[in-house]
Amino acid sequence: MKSPKALSMKYMEMKTLEWQLFNVFALESLTEQSRFADHDAVSFRQILDSVKKFADTELYPVIREMDENPARFEDGTVIVHPAVGTTMKTLGEMGLIGAPLDYEVGGLQIPITLFQALNFVIDAANNHVSGYYNLTFGAAELIAVFGNDKLKEDYLQPMLEGKWGGTMCLTEPQAGSSLSDVETVAIPQDDGSYKLKGQKIWISGGEHKHVDNIVHLVLARIPGGGPGTKGISLLVVPRDRLDGTPNDVTCAGDFQKMGQKGYCTTHIIFGENDDCRGYLVGTEHRGLAHMFQMMNGARLAVGRSAAAIATAAYEASLSFAKERPQGRRLMKGGKKDVSQEQTLIINHPDVRRMLLTQKCVSEASLALILQASYYYDMKHSTEGDEAKDYWLLLELLTPVAKTYPSEAGKRSVDLGLQVLGGSGFCNEYILQLYYRDIRIMSIYEGTTGIQSLDLLGRKILAENGRALDLLEQEINKTLDQAAEFPDQVAQLKEHMALNRDVLKSLLPLVMKGEVEMFLSDATVYMELFSNIVIAWLWMKMAVKAQEEGAGTDFLKAKIHAMKFFFQYELTLNHGLAKVLKTPERLTIAEDDEALLAFA
Ligand SMILES: Cc1cc2nc3c(=O)[nH]c(=O)nc-3n(C[C@H](O)[C@H](O)[C@H](O)COP(=O)(O)OP(=O)(O)OC[C@H]3O[C@@H](n4cnc5c(N)ncnc54)[C@H](O)[C@@H]3O)c2cc1C
Repeated sequence: MKSPKALSMKYMEMKTLEWQLFNVFALESLTEQSRFADHDAVSFRQILDSVKKFADTELYPVIREMDENPARFEDGTVIVHPAVGTTMKTLGEMGLIGAPLDYEVGGLQIPITLFQALNFVIDAANNHVSGYYNLTFGAAELIAVFGNDKLKEDYLQPMLEGKWGGTMCLTEPQAGSSLSDVETVAIPQDDGSYKLKGQKIWISGGEHKHVDNIVHLVLARIPGGGPGTKGISLLVVPRDRLDGTPNDVTCAGDFQKMGQKGYCTTHIIFGENDDCRGYLVGTEHRGLAHMFQMMNGARLAVGRSAAAIATAAYEASLSFAKERPQGRRLMKGGKKDVSQEQTLIINHPDVRRMLLTQKCVSEASLALILQASYYYDMKHSTEGDEAKDYWLLLELLTPVAKTYPSEAGKRSVDLGLQVLGGSGFCNEYILQLYYRDIRIMSIYEGTTGIQSLDLLGRKILAENGRALDLLEQEINKTLDQAAEFPDQVAQLKEHMALNRDVLKSLLPLVMKGEVEMFLSDATVYMELFSNIVIAWLWMKMAVKAQEEGAGTDFLKAKIHAMKFFFQYELTLNHGLAKVLKTPERLTIAEDDEALLAFA
């Protein structure tokens, strides 16, 4: 039996990440902004190298162990793999947990673009550990931006040092996608604190003993806020109080899952004994708006994680395809020459199609995350109208950056498993693990359905469609540099016009108040729109490869992948557009015939 490790020693190709980061997205150019002026390309590379070394030695070697020994509930706590502790400690010591934050709150002011790249490496090595410190970062960032001085003083340092963990507590049994139904309450107390009562389910990283405390960022209702999302507030609720005594926060269990088994998913109860204290973050009843900062960051993080898993799966499939002999190539005239040795499966066109799809999806998903992160960095380091435009671009790309890597990534890992044939289905090989791990990405942090409603119902319409205008300007800038690829330039222009055409047929529905009809195929629209964004990013990479001379196999492969994406994926938009433009809606149920379609 071949060792599974022997077949997937390389969980990612640093060359592609570095090329995208430093060449395509010109990370170094961000140091021209005063926010990042203390950094340079050398320091960026040093951080990247040290994270890769840590991921190689401490994280990738234990991913299978974490999968095979899932987090488990025992005596009121959750037992998780020691790698969780090592990760929190090491990244805390390196200053990387909150590295993008301002100096004054303990950050290093590194660009989010670099931060995403570092996390991509860790996610590709072991996606079971990254959520623990990523949520700690998100929780700390909320306190840093919206918390008062006392909260900052009490909580930030131990969180950023990796001594305390952080979570986001939104979901309740009756409130998943619909946060307007949150019921946890927070009653004001004379000392300025709030008494919490309620329960949250599926809370990632919610309980374990590899950190000294866990700081929950909780959505709850303070009386007087009114119904719906507008009445929700945000509170810091530590498991243990600052003096070390328990804060009446109990863990009632750990959900067992099909994937990400090393990443605990807990049931947390607040105020079982009527003695749970929380502290307001930001303004009363504005909690959901504040929480959106963490959720938007988490959405990019989920997309990045999916991109990284798809990348690791691609590397594993590629290694396998280069080693596995099976069958013979068809000779001219369709004959097989069985006297010849078997060929490697990488020579079969259908296997190449699967691998090229994997390459296209995983590399473009990474590019999408870096592009969105670049807009984030520019938004935070510019001012006025310029900052606002970057913000609009980021807002538009966020649901896509969450969804495309999750959905297309899932498909690409599935193809990767298919490349291995029967071996893909067997536990000895790592593909089945990636297949299970990536499945959650299109569910948490807002399902694909919810992201698609956000894209079509809010982001496309916002500011009279200005974000889409800006994105088209960005795409056109790339197309202006793409004279070497006239066929693909014409194709992308045609698809941009197709997108406008689809919107032209959909938008009158909004004017007529037919909102359900307008949004009923939002997920189909997400797919069409994502394909255009991804085609643009592939074109951007091909233009860069051409500009660099396209002399190496590495650069030629980028151009080949661009052509493959345009031919095999972008063309699918014609069918999607047809669905979107058809007036008949087969998915909408009239009240009296809701179940008729399933009779
Ligand atoms: C492993 C794991 C970890 C998680 N971690 C956290 C965490 O750390 N913190 C936290 O707060 N939550 C967490 N969650 C919760 C997660 O965010 C929710 O599961 C998710 O938001 C979906 O909610 P739901 O499961 O209740 O599904 P539902 O909201 O019931 O949705 C079920 C289906 O209906 C669709 N649907 C629902 N509403 C609509 C609508 N209006 N229009 C169209 N379609 C709709 C959805 O797209 C989905 O396909 C986690 C969940 C899991 C499984």
